Amino acid sequence: MPSVFFFEDECEDKFLLGNKGANLVTMTKLGLPVPPGFIVSIEAYREYQRSGKLPLEELRRALSWLQKKTGKKLGDGLSVSVRSSAPASMPGMMDTVLNLKDEDKIISAVKRVFDSWDNLRAVEYRRLNKIPSDLGTSAIVQAMVLGNKEKNSGTGVVFTRNPNNGQKRLFGEYLDRAQGEDLVSGKRTPQPIETLRLQMPEVYAELERVADILERHFRDMQDVEFTVEDGKLYVLQTRSGKRSGRAAVRIAIDMVKEGIISPEEAILRLTPEDVRALLYKQLKPPVQYRPVAQGLSACPGAASGKVVFDPLEADTKARLNEAVILVRPETSPEDIQGIHAAEGVLTSRGGLTSHAAIVTRAMGKPCVCGAETLNIDLKEETLTIGDLVIRKGDEITIDGDTGNIYLGALPLQEAEATTELKELMSWADSYKRLGVWANADTVEMILQAKKFGAEGIGLCRTERQFNSPERLSAIREFILAQTPAERSEAINHLQRLQKEDFIDIFRALDGMPIIIRLLDMPLHEFLPSEEETTDPQVKERLRELREVNPMLGHRGVRVGVTFPEIYQMQIDAISEARAEVPANVAIMVPQVITVQELLWVKKYIKDPALKVGIMMETVRACMRAGKLAQEADFFSFGTNDLTQAVFSFSREDVERKFLTTYLELGILEHNPFQILDIKGVGRLMETAVSWARKEKKTLEIGVCGEHAGEPLSIRFFHRIGIDYVSCSPFRIPTTKLVAAQAALEQKGAPISAPSESAAKDASSVS
Ligand code: PEP
Ligand code: MG
Repeated sequence: MPSVFFFEDECEDKFLLGNKGANLVTMTKLGLPVPPGFIVSIEAYREYQRSGKLPLEELRRALSWLQKKTGKKLGDGLSVSVRSSAPASMPGMMDTVLNLKDEDKIISAVKRVFDSWDNLRAVEYRRLNKIPSDLGTSAIVQAMVLGNKEKNSGTGVVFTRNPNNGQKRLFGEYLDRAQGEDLVSGKRTPQPIETLRLQMPEVYAELERVADILERHFRDMQDVEFTVEDGKLYVLQTRSGKRSGRAAVRIAIDMVKEGIISPEEAILRLTPEDVRALLYKQLKPPVQYRPVAQGLSACPGAASGKVVFDPLEADTKARLNEAVILVRPETSPEDIQGIHAAEGVLTSRGGLTSHAAIVTRAMGKPCVCGAETLNIDLKEETLTIGDLVIRKGDEITIDGDTGNIYLGALPLQEAEATTELKELMSWADSYKRLGVWANADTVEMILQAKKFGAEGIGLCRTERQFNSPERLSAIREFILAQTPAERSEAINHLQRLQKEDFIDIFRALDGMPIIIRLLDMPLHEFLPSEEETTDPQVKERLRELREVNPMLGHRGVRVGVTFPEIYQMQIDAISEARAEVPANVAIMVPQVITVQELLWVKKYIKDPALKVGIMMETVRACMRAGKLAQEADFFSFGTNDLTQAVFSFSREDVERKFLTTYLELGILEHNPFQILDIKGVGRLMETAVSWARKEKKTLEIGVCGEHAGEPLSIRFFHRIGIDYVSCSPFRIPTTKLVAAQAALEQKGAPISAPSESAAKDASSVS
């Protein structure tokens, strides 16, 4: 096998040539104007590592080929660059040598690039990014083109589409009479790419043609480096461009329409974060506020919070649930933790390809960068704009859509469902098998759920309806009633209120099905705490109801059995409301452990149209799934309580107590209340599903715990044959996307590499 490969060769193996090398071969093959050159392969690097020898003869022959090809002699019009090219991206970690004009220097330079594989920076980068240390690098030797000539020359970087909003138009920067390093070093301020269009329209048109060829070949938006020498365009490098979530969605949809990718690919290549970006908060219109400054709109969405200058402090404050905006002259990789913790990022320096812009875009975090009128004093911790001084802790709002910066925490609103979102969701709907329902307790939430495309309401928690003062006092009347007459009067009052609630809800549903869960909350939670009350009757009742472990106590169906009037009242209120506003309603019983409890509740139901299901959230219910299936019309896993039960972790306390330590020590890999514990809770669910379906093949089974909207958990629910998931309205779009990805992945979709292919559930924790 040769040790040197020419750009004109057939081989595109990135494990032999590295990413950049393989890319140059591909671009040459596509007929693009690439400065000629060759690649000293990774195999040659390995041999150099073993023996200290380079393939000198081949190298010399390649250099004389290069001189023939360019028609120029080394040192007399021809100079070359030597760069590294590894199969994994390691930006800026290894050496680059430029402007080499003689053979011997080029051979030292190749050695230097090879040796730089093991420099400290590169070794540390590989360790942090889990890149195997034996991948190795190749060395690219390429004729240099000079963008710093006097006339018609320059250099630039363009995205083939706008990385912020996805618009199909070249987007980037151009610097005339300059080399690539001038662009990177920031010594001169680049102009927008429009400048090139005005200065050299033919070159701009050629760049558009190149962009189109590259996009169609790589089937993705590209980030292209180019140089113009004496009015001739040269393409130096291309790679998939980083983009905001909003841009990712628009680009994927447009590329389907342009016939570049299929709808399946569009679904598979988007991440839940991309889709979430469409739901970013925005300033509440009408926006009559005057901005105090403006920067570049680096990543869309609006955010408000207290100004913090120190990334570590941003992290600490965020842990205390304080919303902060990280303000820095510019950001660097050490600031990642602070960027992650902040609601948004504001910088005074740096363009749309600066660190802050790229990182926030990847995280989907609002960012305004390069706001040059800002004077940031990190020592004094002040931000000055003209006469205005903003100090640490003052509140500001940034709008990543407009680049505007405002004083104070302005009112924000959730985004509206856009046409793009609707289009994407219609594709997701056509691929997914899982139903996507919503958890919603109020009319507002139901309307929001409908807006985001919920197929039903999978969990309506009735206790939330008692939150208003009027309702709270009504249920307190019942709990504190002394005589049967008082009790019955209180329950009648409650029934009237509940009926009103259900009528409003059924109207809002407008035909959409709903599962109403009967009261789950322990009764004492409706009373004031002992400290809050002086009423002796309330104090006495509180003492009677007090429990050592309320979470494992008198709640759910246990309340329904011991205070039969409550469930009876709720069921009657539902039936009466349904008589006035027809609705597709099912009733769900919480905390069930035995079939007798279910039969007990069923006795209250006179309306044959009302289906009755079980909330599967106790371990015993799972172990008795077969028996329960005989009597239930459906199951819905309450994975919050089920996780609590399987782990014996209090869901109310665990995060504040020992969970952080468990995660830090690697005893647990994830917070099990966020990501379903597949090996424990998941196994139990899988078993329960199979036992239940053995009894009743068609039994409908859903999940309505928080895990229903979490990507890794959703993939698992798909695999074990769950029929639908029910999540909070805001999570519906991402849940639909992941449900569609799960279905396509199972089908073995034509294009793999879903960007969020964290489908792995093989956690290292056993
Ligand atoms: C559950 O336990 O998963 C559930 C959905 O019910 P809740 O959170 O109301 O207990
Ligand atoms: Mg529960």
